[in-house]
Amino acid sequence: EARNPNEPEFLQAVREVAEVIIPFIEENPKYQGKMLLERMVEPERTVVFRVPWIDDKGKIHVNRGFRVEMNSAIGPYKGGLRFHPSVNLSILKFLGFEQVFKNSLTTLPMGGGKGGANFDPKGKSDTEIMKFCHAFMSELFRHLGENTDIPAGDIGVGSREIGYMYGMYKKLRNEFTSVLTGKGMSYGGSLIRPEATGYGNVYFALNMLKTRDDSFEGKTVLVSGSGNVAQYACEKATQLGGKVIAMSDSSGFILDEDGVDAEKLAFIMELKNVKRGRIKEYVKEYPKAKYFEGMRPWNVKADIALPCATQNELDETDAKNLVKNGCICVSEGANMPSTPEAIEVFQKAKILYGVGKASNAGGVAASGLEMSQNALRYNWTREKVDAKLKVIVDDIHKSCIKYGMEKDGYIDYVKGANIAGFVKVADAMLEQGVV
Ligand code: NDP
Repeated sequence: EARNPNEPEFLQAVREVAEVIIPFIEENPKYQGKMLLERMVEPERTVVFRVPWIDDKGKIHVNRGFRVEMNSAIGPYKGGLRFHPSVNLSILKFLGFEQVFKNSLTTLPMGGGKGGANFDPKGKSDTEIMKFCHAFMSELFRHLGENTDIPAGDIGVGSREIGYMYGMYKKLRNEFTSVLTGKGMSYGGSLIRPEATGYGNVYFALNMLKTRDDSFEGKTVLVSGSGNVAQYACEKATQLGGKVIAMSDSSGFILDEDGVDAEKLAFIMELKNVKRGRIKEYVKEYPKAKYFEGMRPWNVKADIALPCATQNELDETDAKNLVKNGCICVSEGANMPSTPEAIEVFQKAKILYGVGKASNAGGVAASGLEMSQNALRYNWTREKVDAKLKVIVDDIHKSCIKYGMEKDGYIDYVKGANIAGFVKVADAMLEQGVV
C-alpha cells in the first residue's frame, strides 16, 4: 500500500487475489521464496503519454494516454483499451492485474495488459472520435506488435474506435497484422467476438446453475449497463429462456416487467450503438416500462443478476437487497463490479457468485480465437467460434471447481479462479527465472 498510494482500485484487486494466493503459496513449497506475487503486482512496463487533438471547432485538447503491460510470462500482453473520463493509473493497473489471471484461465497463450485514455467520448462527433483515435494510436503504435502487445476494446471503445485505431496503426507500420482484436469483419475480425463477453458470461452462469440442477428457464434477470457486454448478456439470457426485466446506463435504469425481448433489444442496440442515446428513451418507445433516474437496478426482485457496467457498481446494501429478494445467482460481465463487502454477502448466503475474471473471460478468449484466425489467414464460421467459446467457458468453470470446491460442496469461484489463474503464470515465471 505504501508503494502504491492513491491507487484504491488496484489495491482492491490485489487484496482479493492476495487473500487467496498467500495461503496457497504457504501450502505449496514450490512457490515459496520466489517473490512471485511481489513480481506479479509490479507491471513489466507502463507507458504514459500525451494525446493532443483538435475538435470540430478548432479547439486544441490534451488527454492522457496509458498502456500498462502487466505480465508476459505466458504470451504477449493482451487486454482492452478504455476511453472514459475516470481512467487513471489505478484503474488500468487493477484491470491489467485481473487480466493476467483471466487470460491464464482461458487456456490460451496470452499475457495481460490494459490501456486507454481519460477521454470522454460522450457528445463527440464521429470526426472528433476519429481524430482522437488517430492521435492516440500515433503514439501507442510504437509499443504494440502482433507478438508484443495486442489491445482490444473496453468501455468507450467499440468496433468504430478499433477501426480508426487499426487504420492509423496500419498506416504508420505499413503492415497488416493482428495487432488489435474486435476488428470489423471486412478486415480480419472474428464472428462472435462482439457477442463473446456477454454470451460467455451467460454460459458461465448456466454452468454455475447446472451445479444446482437449475437453468435460465423461467428466471427473471437483472442486467446493468446497456453497452456491448450488457446487450449480448441480455440476448443470450433471453434465448435460454430467461426474462431480462432491467437494464441501465450511467444515468439510471429501466424496469420492464414484460421482459426485454429480441425486438426491444434491437431498439436498445440502435439507441446505444448508432444514435448514442440514453437508456431513458426506452420508456418513450415502450410506455409500459418505468425509468428510475440516478438509480441502479439491484433493489428489484429477480432470480439472477448480471452486472455488466463498471467497477464497484454493486455494494453491500445492493448485495443484501439481492439476497433478501431471493436472487440465486450473480455472474459478473463487468470487471470487479461487486465491492469486497458485497462479495462477502453473496458468499455468506451461499448463493452462486461468479467473479468477473472467470465469468467474463469469454471476451478475451474470443479475441485469442481472432488472433488464431488471423495467423491462419482464415475465418471460422459463427458456429465453430461459438462452439470453441463454450468449450473454453466450460474449462474455466472446471478449473474453478478444481481449486474452489469447499468441504460443504459450496464452490468459491473467487478462490478457484485466482488459484487456477495463478498456477499457470507462476509456473511459467519459475521456469523462465528472475527476469
Ligand atoms: P460499453 O462502453 O459498451 O458499455 C458500458 C456500459 O456501462 C454503458 O451502459 C455505460 O453507461 C455503463 N457505465 C460505464 N461507466 C459507468 C459508471 N461509472 N457508472 C454506471 N454505468 C456505467 O463497455 P463494455 O460493455 O465493453 O464494458 C462493460 C464492462 O465489461 C466493463 O467493466 C469492462 O471492463 C467489462 N468487460 C468488457 C469486455 C469486452 O469485451 N468489451 C471484456 C471483459 C470485460 P453510459 O452509456 O451512460 O456510459
